[in-house]
Amino acid sequence: MNQPIIGYHLDEEQDWVADLACGHGQHVRHNPPWINRPWVMAEEGRTAHLGEYLNCKRCEEEPEKENIRD
Ligand SMILES: [Zn+2]
Repeated sequence: MNQPIIGYHLDEEQDWVADLACGHGQHVRHNPPWINRPWVMAEEGRTAHLGEYLNCKRCEEEPEKENIRD
């Protein structure tokens, strides 16, 4: 399910996690050569990608959840 990015936070390993509108998070780390997202390292890059849609696998795994907040 595609969900827009509404913000970001760092996890305990200092990797960037995008906060999605559904309440889930998704890693958006820059980890070349496999994952190449240099934009995530810079504040303006992250801001530029706000509102971009990511495919939230957790939503697809838990389609019945009405309110996903812990
Ligand atoms: Zn989700």
